[in-house]
Amino acid sequence: MTVAVYDPNNIFAKILRGEMPAYKVYEDDQTIAFMDVMPQANGHALVLPKAPSRNLLDADPAIFASLFSTVQKVARASKKAFDAEGITVIQFNEAAAGQTVYHLHVHIIPRFEGVELKIHARDMEKAEILAANADRLRAALKAS
Ligand code: 5GP
Repeated sequence: MTVAVYDPNNIFAKILRGEMPAYKVYEDDQTIAFMDVMPQANGHALVLPKAPSRNLLDADPAIFASLFSTVQKVARASKKAFDAEGITVIQFNEAAAGQTVYHLHVHIIPRFEGVELKIHARDMEKAEILAANADRLRAALKAS
């Protein structure tokens, strides 16, 4: 059986090292959050642990408390920032499950009754919309 290993050149590792830009909304010692550039709904954000792991399956359980504390913070702020009726939290593990970037991350997606999610990781959002949504989410996080 082939064991999948962490690739330090994945796009999120580059964002974490500051080698690639991101619409960052939150950062602490252990976690970071930024906007998804191909959102499945307006305001779609991602929360990552800084510690490297491909996904939930190989992660050190010691990171889950800080990761899910930030997931809750961002989910609460997202609901306020986008006046959402609900928040979907998703996390994919390996390609068969829909994972496309191999650094553990959690999707935070504002939801409204009757509005379907857009297709996963397909359409790039306009820079000005991503920037405006990051501003809204950042402001809600600061106020929280
Ligand atoms: P996964 O399929 O691995 O759970 O999700 C990866 C997510 O990252 C997708 O929703 C995709 O839209 C998003 N994504 C892919 N490349 C980039 C990027 O360069 N920057 C940001 N901010 N998001 C990305």
